Amino acid sequence: MESAIQLLSDETINQIAAGEVIESPASVVKELVENALDAGAKKIVVEVVGGGLQKIAVSDDGFGMNAEEAKLSIVRHATSKITKAQDLFHISSKGFRGEALASIASISQMTIETAKEGATGVKLEIERGERVKEGKCARTKGTTFVVKNLFHNVPARKRFQKSPPAISAEIFRLMTMLCLSHPSVQFELLSSGKKAIQTGPNETLADRARLLLGDAFAQNALPLEFEQGPLHFFGLIGAPSNSRPNRMSQYLFLNGRGVQCDILVDAIRNGYGTRLEERRHPLFLLHLNVPADLVDVNVHPQKLHIRLRQEELFVNKLGEAVEIALGKQAPIVSPFSPIDVDFNDAPLRFKEEVEPAQDLLFLPDEPVKIYEQIDRFLFLKQNEKLVLIDVEAASFRILYEKLIESMETKMEKQGLLVPFNVDLTPVESTMILTHQGAIEQMGFSLRAIGKDVFMVEALPPFIEEDSVKEILSEMARALQQFIGKGDYESKRRKSLAYQLAQRGKVKRVTGHLEAKRLLERLESCQNQTHCPKGNPTRIELGYDTIEHLFRKNQKTCSES
Ligand code: ADP
Ligand code: MG
Repeated sequence: MESAIQLLSDETINQIAAGEVIESPASVVKELVENALDAGAKKIVVEVVGGGLQKIAVSDDGFGMNAEEAKLSIVRHATSKITKAQDLFHISSKGFRGEALASIASISQMTIETAKEGATGVKLEIERGERVKEGKCARTKGTTFVVKNLFHNVPARKRFQKSPPAISAEIFRLMTMLCLSHPSVQFELLSSGKKAIQTGPNETLADRARLLLGDAFAQNALPLEFEQGPLHFFGLIGAPSNSRPNRMSQYLFLNGRGVQCDILVDAIRNGYGTRLEERRHPLFLLHLNVPADLVDVNVHPQKLHIRLRQEELFVNKLGEAVEIALGKQAPIVSPFSPIDVDFNDAPLRFKEEVEPAQDLLFLPDEPVKIYEQIDRFLFLKQNEKLVLIDVEAASFRILYEKLIESMETKMEKQGLLVPFNVDLTPVESTMILTHQGAIEQMGFSLRAIGKDVFMVEALPPFIEEDSVKEILSEMARALQQFIGKGDYESKRRKSLAYQLAQRGKVKRVTGHLEAKRLLERLESCQNQTHCPKGNPTRIELGYDTIEHLFRKNQKTCSES
């Protein structure tokens, strides 16, 4: 009699496992690059075509494999990295589960070319996890994996993939993390033929920060270096005056692996103490190197989340390290320091603030002197006039124009280390899907991962994570006005920009640099005098107006 219970074939088992490990082309890149790192590579080249759905190639100059090893590498639970459960507590390599290659091979067409030092190269072709061809090839020490037609035999997963540009962005973000976690390894990323990342060999963490995170990060960052017993923390932390409204500029690496760990992030923030305002988050790029047996990384298939042993020790030491690093910097500025109006003082400087020299002057022929901020109003002197800026209206205008422009130039996106999900109603979800392109141009990256569920993978830098669900609902509501209409491109752009800018506008600037930037940006707006709602952004009081005010007041005084 035929039994209803059957053993699954290896192919099916691998495909199921692939669902767990390989969510997207980015997961493939991650696994292959991590293998290259485990193989001691000093240079790794990643090439992606069509967001990786067409082709992903990863080449390294690591120690390579012989024919036997290459054949075994795609067998499930084949790993050279651990041999028994005991070893799980002393892992120093990236991979150890021995299932990545088997999984990838089961859902793609794969070729492996590999050679050990001085040996002839081996070439394998694999389809659906089975070896279909085996031969020799000429190559130097190292390994190249080529993965084509990913997900071709798992259409359900393929359907949930984002558009190729969105996947490329995700891969770019992942590669950024890998470059930051291994400054001594040279990386290259080619995306559809274009060079997206090119690092030098053997760089410092600061070099990489400058290259990948931009000058704004590197310039305002303080070095952190802390060594105690087996603990070694190092990297860069942002000056308190350079904080952010969200946690997007936070890069944390534990034993060389990008991780998410709220406990550690909180510990870092605690190190800032009262130097940071509430709801502001510091920037940081930190490596924490600790004995491997204090960390359990085997919690999540993609190894992003971790569990810590001796958590309290970590937390205390990390806070201490941050405090020491901050203590070394020049005196800390209060959020917006009151200044003496000293007319002999160099224009544009708050006494306590340390700022980079080239930032000293802006608008060189028109010196501006900023005096003070009272609530949301900024007071400054320009062209012999007293100018009052409404920070809220000004920032509303600036953001609005920037977002409108972003339709052509692309809004800055900040990838989230830990993407999160939002649940929407069916109507909302339909609206978001219909207008996803326009929304993504504003700086979001969204991926539909289930019915009415979106994974948020990137946000515009001025949006707080906790408000995303609300914002998406609001946008969906506003987008309903376009149902059944044609030719709404420009109206839609304005509507989305208006909503987002209203969300992102600020009431205060938190320091002199920020005040200056606000003014510069306002000056470059097309309509710098009014916010999108129509309220004035600036009021100028010249001598005549002020005198008039005094005279008017004189009269009323004498009358009463
Ligand atoms: P894991 O990394 O968990 O061991 P993988 O499926 O990713 O599992 O890889 C299986 C094995 O294939 C590795 O343990 C390693 O021995 C070998 N391997 C994979 N990639 C490379 C590479 N780039 N260079 C050398 N060996 C590799
Ligand atoms: Mg691996």
